[in-house]
Amino acid sequence: MQSTPKTFRIKSFGCQMNVYDGERISELLTDNGLTAAADGEDADLVVLNTCHIREKAAEKAYSDVGRLKREDGSRPMIALAGCVAQAEGAEAKRRSPMIDMVVGPQAYHRLPEMVAQASRGARPVDTDMPAISKFDALPKRRRANPSAFLTVQEGCDKFCTYCVVPYTRGAEISRPRADIVAEARALVEGGAKEIVLLGQNVNAWEHDGHGLAGLIREIARIDGLERIRYTTSHPADMTDALIAAHGEVGKLMPYLHLPVQSGSDRVLKAMNRSHTSETYLRTIEKMRDARRDIAISGDFIVGFPGETEEDFQATLQIVDAVRYASAYSFKYSARPGTPAAQMEDQIAPEVMDDRLQRLQARIAEHQLAFNRSTVGRDTQILIERSGRHPGQMIGRSPWLQSVHVESSAEPGTMLDVTLTAAGPNSMTGAIRQKDAA
Ligand code: SAM
Ligand code: SF4
Repeated sequence: MQSTPKTFRIKSFGCQMNVYDGERISELLTDNGLTAAADGEDADLVVLNTCHIREKAAEKAYSDVGRLKREDGSRPMIALAGCVAQAEGAEAKRRSPMIDMVVGPQAYHRLPEMVAQASRGARPVDTDMPAISKFDALPKRRRANPSAFLTVQEGCDKFCTYCVVPYTRGAEISRPRADIVAEARALVEGGAKEIVLLGQNVNAWEHDGHGLAGLIREIARIDGLERIRYTTSHPADMTDALIAAHGEVGKLMPYLHLPVQSGSDRVLKAMNRSHTSETYLRTIEKMRDARRDIAISGDFIVGFPGETEEDFQATLQIVDAVRYASAYSFKYSARPGTPAAQMEDQIAPEVMDDRLQRLQARIAEHQLAFNRSTVGRDTQILIERSGRHPGQMIGRSPWLQSVHVESSAEPGTMLDVTLTAAGPNSMTGAIRQKDAA
């Protein structure tokens, strides 16, 4: 039996929504009298906030549990949270006797109660998706990073044939507008200069007849807030109103993450994506008409069952057509319970490796070209953290590039810079004279 924990540590894996959940869990535990363990210090309670999207990520959760055993044979109290917890439920306790409690992404507001139960020797599991919003049970936001995440929408009804999200995160729900605006205000009061609105399909957010564009316009009115971003968007929910907002709302940053997954219409159909390469490209065109300098990012899956070399060539073509400023690419991973896992023609690992390498090389060319195209621009960066060298700080440009700059400005400072040099993954900036004075 574990004694009542006094200190805790949270390890979040996977998407930004897990990072957000990790922050909320931390606030919740702090409110309930626990203290975050200092760096290097053993924590009494470890929350593993896991990701189930690909097999590797899910397996990592169990190896991480194993690693929590200390040299003297003791271990902290362990809570398995996140999407692996949701997908595995009580099975997780059978797979690893070290796990003291299992809590899904819609139930973590109950963690303090579960910790108390575990201290009494129970091994509680809660993977309910209750109708009442967990958000109502969470404490008010107090401190925030310069760039703060804010989840506005959860779950997904799209059922792409490869994806576990509709099963682990449940049906699509939008948080009420007033709650989001109140949380955004609290984040700005707590020090946020940028708010990143999050959702599995963030652009499907809808409440009281308002869509995401209306929400962005409302949040943009908050004094002290400098920047707004949102992620991840689905091509089918990219409304004209949202596209127009990019041309009209100054605080909305010129960056759009719009996953396409494949350039082949045959593969897109088998994936149950509701867009074609043509409709996707039309959306990109409209976006560029609304905001000429927009940086486009995306997600790709290579090696979906049945993908031929010709299909893969179509993916390379769409990369060239869009000229991505950045993109994430993954090898297809068969997930239990998804339709694609049952499909014939699963692709050999070495074919996937080869395609992934070629795709990443092509994306890297466009990323470097985009970065080079911004050299010489006068712009603003939001300082986020210190760099590796003394006197160096790192900030983000409007196009989400990391920008290294010689400066002693504190995180949260908006700095006027000129972008002076481009690398494949970051930029160098120089402070413009009026700030240097
Ligand atoms: N809702 C977003 C969309 O549809 O664009 C994506 C959310 S998903 C959490 C993030 C990315 O993981 C997807 O865009 C996809 O590229 C990748 N992904 C999802 N399931 C996968 C799988 N079974 N194998 C490999 N990559 C996967
Ligand atoms: Fe997964 Fe598709 Fe939903 Fe995105 S839209 S979360 S890829 S099912």
